[in-house]
Amino acid sequence: MKVLKYVNHYPAHIVDQVESLVKQKQLAAYLIKKYPCKHTVNSEKALYDYVQNYKKRYIKQSAPVSRVSYDAKLQLVKHALGTHTYVSRVQGGKLKAKQEIRIASLFKEAPQVMLDMIVVHELAHLKEKQHNKAFYKLCLHMLPEYHQLELDTRLFLIETELNGPLYK
Ligand SMILES: [Zn+2]
Repeated sequence: MKVLKYVNHYPAHIVDQVESLVKQKQLAAYLIKKYPCKHTVNSEKALYDYVQNYKKRYIKQSAPVSRVSYDAKLQLVKHALGTHTYVSRVQGGKLKAKQEIRIASLFKEAPQVMLDMIVVHELAHLKEKQHNKAFYKLCLHMLPEYHQLELDTRLFLIETELNGPLYK
């Protein structure tokens, strides 16, 4: 099943569970029950403030983030998902420079905690480029539910790819 690419680096029993949720068409119900509504951080100004608040609270000293945006094109870069962050990324500028965070615009239609997960992931990259132990430690510090949310965000991507927006 092609959409399982989003989770195929998880242990086999998890991949099996996801596959059976998809086959039984239970994935949307699972997600909606757990996350009844989407966030309201719709404008780029609101998104910018949202990211800055997180940054101020947890990693004040790291490089400033100059721009935060929703990016419709990132939606198409699906192959980047297997090993890496979602369809969002951090772009370094010049030395010591301004950082830019882009979040795939499909996450406009996501639950707030999933937006949190992506923001936390990208902010952690300001300090740690690699997905190493220190990186995940930082993510967990900012968001204790990080690992479960990362998995659920991947389920959200599967559902969105198969059936369009979760919240109709
Ligand atoms: Zn990453």
